[in-house]
Amino acid sequence: MLTHHLATCHRPNRMSIEAMTKRDFTTIQRSYTFRFYPTSAQRQQLAIEFGHGRWVWNTCLAWRSYVYRHRGQSVSAVDFSGHLTKLKKTAAYGWLKEASATTLNQKLRDQDTAFKNFFAGRAKYPRFKKRAHAQSIRYQLDPRQVAGRYRAGEFLKLPKLGLLKLKWSRKPQGIPKMVTVTQDCAGRYGVAFMCEETLQPLPREPNGIGVDLGVKDIVVTSEGWKSGNPRHLRTHTRQLTKTQRRLSRRRKGSVRWHRQRVRVAKAHARVKNTRQDWLHKLTTALIRQAGLIAMETLNVKGMMANRRLSKALGDVGMHELKRQIEYKAAWYGCEFVQVDRWAPTSKTCSVCGAVIDAMLLKVRQWSCECGAVHDRDINAARNILRLATVGRTGSDARGGVYKLEVVA
Ligand SMILES: [Zn+2]
Repeated sequence: MLTHHLATCHRPNRMSIEAMTKRDFTTIQRSYTFRFYPTSAQRQQLAIEFGHGRWVWNTCLAWRSYVYRHRGQSVSAVDFSGHLTKLKKTAAYGWLKEASATTLNQKLRDQDTAFKNFFAGRAKYPRFKKRAHAQSIRYQLDPRQVAGRYRAGEFLKLPKLGLLKLKWSRKPQGIPKMVTVTQDCAGRYGVAFMCEETLQPLPREPNGIGVDLGVKDIVVTSEGWKSGNPRHLRTHTRQLTKTQRRLSRRRKGSVRWHRQRVRVAKAHARVKNTRQDWLHKLTTALIRQAGLIAMETLNVKGMMANRRLSKALGDVGMHELKRQIEYKAAWYGCEFVQVDRWAPTSKTCSVCGAVIDAMLLKVRQWSCECGAVHDRDINAARNILRLATVGRTGSDARGGVYKLEVVA
């Protein structure tokens, strides 16, 4: 039975095409993270910074929860900083001066942000910090002194720590305003910051591509480009499962358990890093290919139903993929359109629009009654592109490449 189905979908408005033709420079916040290797003196100082920061966070959190519960008043963490200054002058709490003032104050400001997010419904109620968690502190860099403290790719100096031995894996552009120092559960140290950067939009490709998500290839485009599904991701995931299984056999709290816990944390980090690395390369490659990218919507329930797909990259990975495409598209002046994922994109012929009844997942190639022979994934990607661009002037997605109307 043949039916024509693909004509129904939401119409992207023409405004977005016109917006695309304006080629402004965009200012973005790019985040950088680098590993670093502290000296033993720095490690000691960092333990103090983390510990005191935790104390300030927890004490302030307990205080404001108490005041709220017993007096019904909301106090801010900034109110607490007045107390903190007084405490530092007492004999009993003089040790607070061992930590740098900027990290402690920043902890208080961060707690205010955490409460703001909680009241806005964006986050859960702030929690007490424990020593077993990943640790972090933040330093505000004074713009007047930053020249002596930071030079991209060369050095970073922080109060009470001095020069940090950073592994500069790339050279940031711009100047950071805030630096976060972290220690993960595996005991590794890192530095993270954001830099403001001005981007020149990429020369806009006049074409659009549809993107189909899958298992054999994570991404297949309507132009026949296939990303593959890197084996190393699977290997790392297998290693992670193995270390986790071993951890569950250890007696909780024992020396061997702790040692294994570090191994699990390291394996986690390795999976995350390789996946992130691969995703960044993939999404950048996609953005460079087209002026418009069309993709299916991801929905959590749908992903759960499609176990194979979510297992291929992990639920987080799929959402991360979409997130990266979305923000990179915005950065580089490329348009990103999403289409309903329940449209029968695999079963529809992208040449004549006929919909076939059913198709097994193992069918990789099929031919339509109209004579077209399809690669399953490329055909699906073409349909996604068509759904995203139907009704637009200049669209010619069926069997071909969609051309954007370029307004001079
Ligand atoms: Zn056909």
